[in-house]
Formats: sequence, structure tokens, C-alpha cells
Amino acid sequence: MTELRYRLPQVRELRTALPGPRSTDLAARRAVAVAAGVGSTVPVYAADADGGVIVDVDGNSLIDLGSGIAVTTVGASDPRVAEAVREQVGHFTHTCFMVTPYEGYIAVAERLNALTPGDRDKRTVLFNSGAEAVENAVKAARLATGRDAVVAFDHAYHGRTNLTMALTAKAMPYKAHFGPFAPEVYRMPMSYPFRDPGVDGPAAARRAITAIEKQIGADSVAALIIEPIQGEGGFIVPAPGFLPALAEWAKANGVVFIADEVQTGFARTGDWFASSHENLVPDIITMAKGIAGGMPLSAITGRADLLDKVHPGGLGGTYGGNPVACAAALATLDTMVELDLVSRARAIESTVVTRLRALAADVGCIGEVRGRGAMIAVELVGADGYEPDPALTRAVAAKALAAGVLILTCGTYGNVIRLLPPLVIGDDLLDDGLSVLETAIREAVGEQP
Ligand SMILES: *Cc1c(COP(=O)(O)O)cnc(C)c1O
Repeated sequence: MTELRYRLPQVRELRTALPGPRSTDLAARRAVAVAAGVGSTVPVYAADADGGVIVDVDGNSLIDLGSGIAVTTVGASDPRVAEAVREQVGHFTHTCFMVTPYEGYIAVAERLNALTPGDRDKRTVLFNSGAEAVENAVKAARLATGRDAVVAFDHAYHGRTNLTMALTAKAMPYKAHFGPFAPEVYRMPMSYPFRDPGVDGPAAARRAITAIEKQIGADSVAALIIEPIQGEGGFIVPAPGFLPALAEWAKANGVVFIADEVQTGFARTGDWFASSHENLVPDIITMAKGIAGGMPLSAITGRADLLDKVHPGGLGGTYGGNPVACAAALATLDTMVELDLVSRARAIESTVVTRLRALAADVGCIGEVRGRGAMIAVELVGADGYEPDPALTRAVAAKALAAGVLILTCGTYGNVIRLLPPLVIGDDLLDDGLSVLETAIREAVGEQP
């Protein structure tokens, strides 16, 4: 890997208790200016970020193990991305690709067509958010198949717009009281090896396929959408064989197989895309988060014959594929190649998994350490080794934060610590962050009633 140079010192350093006085002032302003429905994981306000650290408005330097939810894979201020953005804003910030198109959009499409799994003719469309990508993948699948039904899975997360809320599994906080939801969405059982032991991948796929055929009918299904590793749902890695069996069934039945790689894409899992792990070639792949170094951009890339069925004007949006975001994406992809972040994700996996499995052997509260690349989860459970323990999970995250390490949680049961460090984090900083996490887990378990 190219030697990394950082702009900010890569250290964990607390100058105040958290939140500090300036963050507390901002929280007071926020409370009367920003609607309460927008949550924040931590009450600490950012002033700067680089590599593996976020510096807050009180001068505290925190280790970032969340990457703003898997977005800042190349860091939050990668110099190549920053320069590309500066260069593009000096020329034009917007013309609207649907009015006066520009090269950056085409270049991103070419890159994604080449990078996504499958050696075949592909087409790409750009949008702004992950949810928008998912919406458009479903639109295209419905038009191309002339069918209505969409299959999603337990524990799925696909976004917060009306259709993507319907596709998302968890009621609180994503769906509760926000209905009615879009129709013709059907939810099927997932493969969740830790909570569903004894059901292997092919058996879990058969269970889902039987339910689809009995409850919907294969010839009514436009698309099946699934995250190859579920994100918000708990970093659930399906048992081997589950995804290939679903993909094969979809192909045999004219169902569009959509891999939602909004969270897993772009080197995060130690491959460019998580689909590659089991040699899946999705009909359409949805992407966002890690794509553009933090600039808002999303994409769908899929079979040319399928996406080209949509009539001109049927897909688009005012801001979709914004030129500044496209410039950032091209610089982000170059950076990922230059720094070989795919290999870096695998190295991070080996460090993180080794340390956390050793801890798991020593404390009773870790039900499972799982994940791939720099997308690793720790599922926390009670004394029986099974019952989810969301209170312990919250306590661990709070302790880590108090010590200067930003850690996210997730999971249908709220009992999963999820690690998503920037792939440019240094080894020393990662080690320090993991030490803090280990101490937090040991202390939180020790203090349990
Ligand atoms: C985050 C996420 C989305 C939604 O992306 P937004 O940019 O927040 O709309 C969709 N699918 C998956 C798998 C995600 O992780």
C-alpha cells in the first residue's frame, strides 16, 4: 500500500469530557432549530476529519470506527477527492445531466460498468441517495418484466422513502406510523446462521422460494432485492449457498435479481462488491455510501437489455449524477485502486476478527463475531448465549465514546456493535480503537445487574 500521509494527527485525545462545552452549545441551538425526528448517534459535533479521526468542536480527537455509516471509505478529506471537488466547482457546479450533459457522468458510468460483477453489456444511471437508487432499480425491474411484486427479506434495510420503507423490515424507528406503505412488497425469511442454526444456505433458500411460489407466484414477481451482507439489520452474513440459490431461481423464473450493495460496495468487504464473494452476477446492483468519498451520489448498474427497456425520460432527477459528486467519485475510485483498499479491507478483517474472537472466548456476552473485510459485527447476548442484549450494546457504545472511540450499533434487536472503519485508518489507531472497545465490553459486562 502507498504510504499514507495525513493532514491531522492520527491520535485519540480527549481535552474535555464528552460532549464538551461547544458541542453542548450546538446541541441547545439544534434542539430549537432542527426537527426532533432527526437523530444523531453521538452528541459530539464535528469540526474536522481525516484518515481515522474526527476532531470535534472542542478539540477532542476521536477514533472513527463508523465512517459516517460506511461512507468515508477513503477518509473524510482525502486530498485527491478534495482536489477533484475544488477543480470541478471552479468550472461548473450543475447543469443537470438531463439538460446539458457532461463527461464526468459518462466516466463514472464507464467505471461502474467495468467494476461491477459480470462480463456483459451493462448500463448505469446516477442518483443522489441509496434509497433513490433502490427505487429506480425497482422501477426498471417492473417496467422490464411487466410484473408488480417485489420480494424483500427479514432484517432488510433499503431506505426511508415510501417504497424503500416498505422494503425495509424494521418498524421502529424506520416505519412506525409512517404508512400506508407501497403495495406489492412481500417479505421472506432470511438466512441468519446465528439465530437460525441448523438451516444451511440451500435450505434457507428453499424455504424462501417455497414461500414466494405459494404466496405470490413466481410469474408475478418483478424483482427480488437483497443485501449480500445485511447492514442495518445486523451485519447478517447469509449461510453459503443461500444467495446463489436465490439468484439461480430468479434467473430461471425471469425475476430481476437486485443486489443492494449500498453499504457493502466499494472495497468495504474485501472485494469491490460483496456479490463477488459467491460469484453472484446481479441483474442490477444498487450503490451509494462509499462511492464518492462523502459526496452525495448513488448509482444503479445493470444488464443493458434490462435498463435500456426504460423509455427516455423515465429515469433521472434534477441533481442525479451531479458533476461535483462525479468528480469526487472518479477520484475516490482512483484512490481505492492506488491504495489497494480491497487488500486493506482484508487486512483489517484479519486484525479485527482475531482480536474480537479472542475476546469472545474470554467473555460470555459475545454470541458471534462475523462479517467480511472492514464490515465486522459483534452480536451481544445474555448469559444464555442467545437472548439479544440491547442494553449491554448501548452501554458498550457509550463507554467507547466516553473514551474517545466512535462506534455504531445496529441490528433488528439493537444488540450488534458494527465496525466500519475508514479503510485508510492506520494500524496503530485501529489497535487503539479495538483496545478501547475490548475494555468497554469487559467493563459493561462487569457492571451488569
Ligand atoms: C444506507 C442504505 C440505504 C439507503 O441509503 P440512503 O443514502 O440513506 O438513502 C439503502 N440500502 C442499504 C443496504 C443501505 O445500507
